[in-house]
Amino acid sequence: MNTDAFATYESNVRRYCRSFPTVFTKALGATIWDESGKPHIDFIVGSGALNYGHNNPTIIAPAIEYMIGDNILLSLDMYTAAKRDFIEALVESILKPRGLSYKIQFPGPTGTNANEAALALARKYTGRSSVMAFTNSYHGMSLGSLAVSGSASTRELGGVARHDVIRVPYDGYANQAFDSASYIDCVLSDPGSGIEKPAAIILEPIQAEGGMNTASAAWLTEIQRICRKHGIVFIVDDIQAGSGRTGDFFSFEFAKIEPDIVTLSKSLSGSGSPLSIVLIRPDLDIWKPGEHSGTFRGNNFAFVTAGAMCKMWSDLRFTAGVERTAVKLQAHLDRLVAKFPKCIEQKRGRGLMAGLKCSSSAAVSRVHDIAFENGLLIESSGPDRDVIKVLPPITITDDELDHGIAVLDHALQEQDNV
Ligand code: PLP
Repeated sequence: MNTDAFATYESNVRRYCRSFPTVFTKALGATIWDESGKPHIDFIVGSGALNYGHNNPTIIAPAIEYMIGDNILLSLDMYTAAKRDFIEALVESILKPRGLSYKIQFPGPTGTNANEAALALARKYTGRSSVMAFTNSYHGMSLGSLAVSGSASTRELGGVARHDVIRVPYDGYANQAFDSASYIDCVLSDPGSGIEKPAAIILEPIQAEGGMNTASAAWLTEIQRICRKHGIVFIVDDIQAGSGRTGDFFSFEFAKIEPDIVTLSKSLSGSGSPLSIVLIRPDLDIWKPGEHSGTFRGNNFAFVTAGAMCKMWSDLRFTAGVERTAVKLQAHLDRLVAKFPKCIEQKRGRGLMAGLKCSSSAAVSRVHDIAFENGLLIESSGPDRDVIKVLPPITITDDELDHGIAVLDHALQEQDNV
C-alpha cells in the first residue's frame, strides 16, 4: 500500500485517513473496498452524505446518461433543464406530500454555505443581530456557522471573535428534568433577563457531531411555538439528520413542526456530489436579486442525482423498506446494549441515525480499531468522543447490516475482554 503522496504532500490537517490507514478504490451500496481488495462495511457513509449507499444504481444511472450527452454541468444560477427537473421532483415527491410549501434557495454547495445563507436571511428579515444556538450543536466551519456551533475547539478555529450568539441548553442537556424550552420562553419574555431577542433560533433535531443527542417532539413543538410568539425565525439545520437519515425524509416530521427555514446538504444529492438548499417560508424570501451568491450553485450532475433520489420517496416499497431497516437496526442495537452493559451506557438517536454512548473514549477507540481490522468503518462523536456513530446507508441490504453488526458485536466483545 503506497501512501507516500499523502504523507509527503497532504496537509497535516487530514483526519479520517489516519483512522483508516488504507487506500480505498471502489464502493457499492454499503461496501467499500481498499486497494488490496479487502471489503469494509461502511457505517460512516461520508458522515451522512451517502445515505443511499455508494453508487446507488437508481441514482447514478440517469447521471451517467446525462454525463455522456454533452449536457450542462455548471450553470451558476441560470435556468437549466436538470435544475427544473430537480425542483419539480423535490416539490412533487417531498414537499407537497408533506404539506410543505417553501421557496428554494441554492447557496454554495456545502452545508455551511446553506447555514450562512439561512442566518444572513434571518438577520436581514428581523433586523436583529444575535442568534440563539444550543449546547453541543455543530453547524459548519465558516465563521457564522462556527459562531453558532458549541464545541470549544471548533469555535476557536476561526481565530476571530464570535459575536452575536446566545447559547442555550439543548433538550435534556443539564438533566432530563430541566425544561430548557420554558427557560428560553422565560428569558425572552422578561425585559430584565439581559438576553436580547434574537433574529433566529437554529437547531439540529438530532445533534450528530454533538453526541447523537435527540430532541423530543414536545420540545421541538415548544421551540416552534416560542419562535412564533416572539417573532423569531426558526431554522432547522437538517444537513446531517435530514434527507432520509431518520427514516422520514426530514428529521422533524415526527414532531409535526414546520420550521421557517430548513437547510439541507450532505445526502441531498443522493450521490455524494455537493449540493445544498435553503428552504424558506415564502414570505421570508426577501432577498434582492443577486444579493447572495456563490460560483458552485449550479452543480447539474448533483441536480440529476438529487432528482432521482427525491423520486424514490414516491415509491411505497422504498419507504417501507427504509422503515423496516430502521426497526431492524434498532433491534440490533438494543441487543448490543443488553449484551455489553460494561461498555455501552445508552443507545442514542432515532431511526437509522443511531449512536452508542460508551463508558469512555478509549473504549470507543479500541472498538473502532478492532472493527476496522475486521472490515467495518465506524466513527465517534460527542464532546468526549465517547459515542459510536452508527450510520449505515438507509438502503443497506439485510446481509450487509447483519454482517456490519456482527463485526461491531465482535469488536465490543474484544473490548470487553481488555
Ligand atoms: N450542519 C450539520 C448538522 C452538520 O453535521 C454539518 C457537517 O457535518 C454541517 C452543518 C456542515 O456541513 P459541511 O461540512 O458540508 O459544510
